[in-house]
Amino acid sequence: MNVVIMGPPGVGKGTQAAGLVASHGVVHVSTGDILRSAVQEGSELGRQAAALMAAGELVPDHLMMGIIKDRLQRPDVSGGWLLDGFPRTEPQADGLLALLDEIGQRIDGVLVLDAPDDEIVRRLAGRLTCRACGHVTTSRGADGPPAACPACGADALYVRDDDSEQTIRHRLEVFRERTWPAAERLGERCALTRIDGRGTPDEVQQRIAGVLR
Ligand code: AMP
Repeated sequence: MNVVIMGPPGVGKGTQAAGLVASHGVVHVSTGDILRSAVQEGSELGRQAAALMAAGELVPDHLMMGIIKDRLQRPDVSGGWLLDGFPRTEPQADGLLALLDEIGQRIDGVLVLDAPDDEIVRRLAGRLTCRACGHVTTSRGADGPPAACPACGADALYVRDDDSEQTIRHRLEVFRERTWPAAERLGERCALTRIDGRGTPDEVQQRIAGVLR
């Protein structure tokens, strides 16, 4: 099964992706994670992407296409992939469709999660990410900010550079202006379902399961 999960930043794509990896055995391909690793490693790609990412801007399409062309042709994803964070622009959507035609693959479903901007800002402004395992948690739990990652126990929780309120609002604008048209473009060729991203992760997971069943 090859699935694309789309939606504004902070709507819960990463959390739902982890659930789908567990339930459907797909490989999670997150372009945001790939870019953050490149920045951490200090590679040429990382150097080109770092400032854009911190400002909530998109990394140029040609760099993103290069990443995705390489990633989707590696043997580990041959049993199915879950694309998260790509495509984010119409040229990326067209490029993805052309690439899949070329390599004889197809998209089985596009899931678009959405939630109101205010809910997203509230969620993201308290988001903590684990540098060791990528787990996402909140600084606003009933017991206050956790000291260590609740998933792997590492003392590596941090606030992403692009999770400040001003940058979040800008990323939401970028999503509405540039990524919605990309979703619509995919919807012309593939089965696309809009899913309500409000509520708990379990509630959203149930909605997704209903669509994929
Ligand atoms: P994410 O983790 O998906 O929220 O991505 C974090 C940041 O990485 C985004 O705000 C962009 O700066 C960059 N990024 C990730 N995926 C893409 C993409 N497909 N096209 C352009 N920029 C991207």
